[in-house]
Amino acid sequence: MRIDLHTHSSVSDGTDTPAELVRRARTIGLDVVALTDHDTFDGLDEAAAEGERLGIRVVRGMELSCSRQGNSVHVLAYGADPASPGLAAEMARVRDGRLGRLAGVLAKLAELGVPVSEAEVMAQVGDSPSVGRPHIADALIDAGHVRDRQEAFDRFLADGGPAHVHRYTIEVERGIDLVHGAGGLAVIAHPWGRGREYVLPSGVLQALARDRGLDGIEVDHQDHDLETRRRLRAVADSVGLLATGASDYHGIGKLDHELGCNTTDPEVFNEMERRLESR
Ligand code: AMP
Ligand code: FE
Ligand code: FE
Ligand code: ZN
Repeated sequence: MRIDLHTHSSVSDGTDTPAELVRRARTIGLDVVALTDHDTFDGLDEAAAEGERLGIRVVRGMELSCSRQGNSVHVLAYGADPASPGLAAEMARVRDGRLGRLAGVLAKLAELGVPVSEAEVMAQVGDSPSVGRPHIADALIDAGHVRDRQEAFDRFLADGGPAHVHRYTIEVERGIDLVHGAGGLAVIAHPWGRGREYVLPSGVLQALARDRGLDGIEVDHQDHDLETRRRLRAVADSVGLLATGASDYHGIGKLDHELGCNTTDPEVFNEMERRLESR
């Protein structure tokens, strides 16, 4: 069984449509794939329909934009009900914040000598309801200012970078509660990716497990080196958190995150299914 529980489609900042993503999962021999677009459930029906057609299991997911002490934290939700009013309202607020931030980022980019227009960014966004920095990066590429998304982040868009603007996010404790309130499982994505262990030190992860019922943490992820994975797995084991693994595939938007490059142990996935059935 090969199980990839974290992927993005063109419904947020990936480049494959949901159906294309599921076809690719089937082609490379995955048995289970979760679609986890940022702050939206909009791709799930299309992905699920393609999964039924091809006979591959599609898990309904979403990656919720949260934060702790002003630093970004991503919470993966599995099996959450899109109609849950509390969660839906907060997701709408986050998406509004994504759009609301755009003018500020564009003003900074213009000042930095790499102007792109709102129309150029919205052409990249297409009909995605979730405007992301990768879309701004793609506009910078098309304008000839940078070669690829990575350069756009490294020079301008990364957290704390010269064109970074904060947007509305949900406190991580509340994000976990909202996901649980919608009947879903909450797993923190790439908790220590990009050297950000200080945002969620091990004691905080353990407290989220004990006090908030956090279900799991993503351990096997491209942004974690082997030593980081080993230490995160020890944190998970210390409090009974499920340790997941996934690609965080973004199509051609993140070339070192190929679909299926990290996977989740079938035992862990079985436990996730047991918990979802009992909710
Ligand atoms: P946003 O959703 O607008 O906050 O943008 C965050 C997204 O941009 C993440 O989900 C990644 O896909 C990508 N991203 C964030 N930080 C970086 C980085 N330093 N380098 C490359 N991509 C990044
Ligand atoms: Fe992303
Ligand atoms: Fe993420
Ligand atoms: Zn992701």
